[in-house]
Amino acid sequence: MAHKKPLPETALIHPPRPVAGGFRSLVPGTERASTVLFDSVAKWRNRSGFDESTYTYGTTGTPTTRDLQNRIAEWEGGFATVLFPSGLAAVVYALLPFVVPGDHVLVPANVYDPVRTLANGLLKRMNVAVEAYDPLVGAGIAAQIKPTTRVVWVETPGSITMEVSDLPAIARAAHAAGALVVVDNTYSAGWYLRAFELGADLSVHALTKYPAGHSDLVMGSVTTRDEATWRAVKDMAMQTGQCCAPDDIYLVLRGMTTMPLRIRHAEQVTLSLARWLKTRPEVKLVLHPALPDCPGHDIWKRDFTGSTGIFSIVLQDDYGADAAARFIEALQYFGIGASWGGSASLALTYDLDRSRSHWPHRGALVRLAIGFEDERDLREDLERGLAALHHSEGPAQ
Ligand SMILES: *Cc1c(COP(=O)(O)O)cnc(C)c1O
Repeated sequence: MAHKKPLPETALIHPPRPVAGGFRSLVPGTERASTVLFDSVAKWRNRSGFDESTYTYGTTGTPTTRDLQNRIAEWEGGFATVLFPSGLAAVVYALLPFVVPGDHVLVPANVYDPVRTLANGLLKRMNVAVEAYDPLVGAGIAAQIKPTTRVVWVETPGSITMEVSDLPAIARAAHAAGALVVVDNTYSAGWYLRAFELGADLSVHALTKYPAGHSDLVMGSVTTRDEATWRAVKDMAMQTGQCCAPDDIYLVLRGMTTMPLRIRHAEQVTLSLARWLKTRPEVKLVLHPALPDCPGHDIWKRDFTGSTGIFSIVLQDDYGADAAARFIEALQYFGIGASWGGSASLALTYDLDRSRSHWPHRGALVRLAIGFEDERDLREDLERGLAALHHSEGPAQ
């Protein structure tokens, strides 16, 4: 039978891979380099970091780098990918190449918090104005787009308050005004949200989360719809020496072969725990995109093909910040720490009055990241947390 192109999950495990020197295994090699050697002075003189069929120096990548870049570009259905040493660096390099002083950028009010820090720091210094929009605004974003708007940033669902944005409507309005649309696609790891099909020009991931999958490294990727956008990102990455260690890249290559399996498992357990928490009297709202409490749930049903392992609960009005701390500190298996996508479950609470102008709930919000522990242990653990809410008020110990 003729060979056919593999489906996406198969392609993560069986990518086309050149055979070097007749050695074949199931594992990609890890090619390290600072110096790359050239066959002739002419080849050295004609080198170009934009030519991804050749190699120039460690900072512009080795075959290990190209392997992961190609795999992510293929996975997301984009033109090409550039890797960065953290998800945050990828976020920064999806913005910086496209703005000059005097420009305007729109970001959702629920954006990943370091983007706000970037807006008040480097971008402010560059005289780039960053304005927040309501993540549920949809086509109404047109009213906030100015002639100087260069980038409309979308993060969906928001990673703490979980609002699902109408990406196609936002993209139509942005494109009508000549602005680029960047999607932070970390939540779905590029799988359950087809960002390019829904209008994105660039898709950013924290590879730190599901692709790496084991809480042991940080890395990010920027994938673009077309060559011109890729050149702009790549150019700035090369100007500023952005690159990743091949050993870390190898770990992401390895992680990605099991990523769909891990996400599907997390999806099932997370949904089950979220539905159960919804029945608990201590819980006012369960913000999980697949459940109706979540703002933008209908958009999630339309645009996403699944959900992953994070969601938030809003406690009843009586349970404030101290109660949230008691809840979290009573948990045995949920660690207190940032990120998600590894084997261990995590829980955090966020002070939303600080970052939001209109956060309507009095009860504290707790964001849960579900790992791969036995669901029964996690449920018992959450029961422990809920029981701790009933203990006497006072500072958490
Ligand atoms: C984690 C995260 C990032 C940043 O990734 P790091 O690798 O931790 O720097 C960016 N965006 C979102 C939505 C994230 O959750």
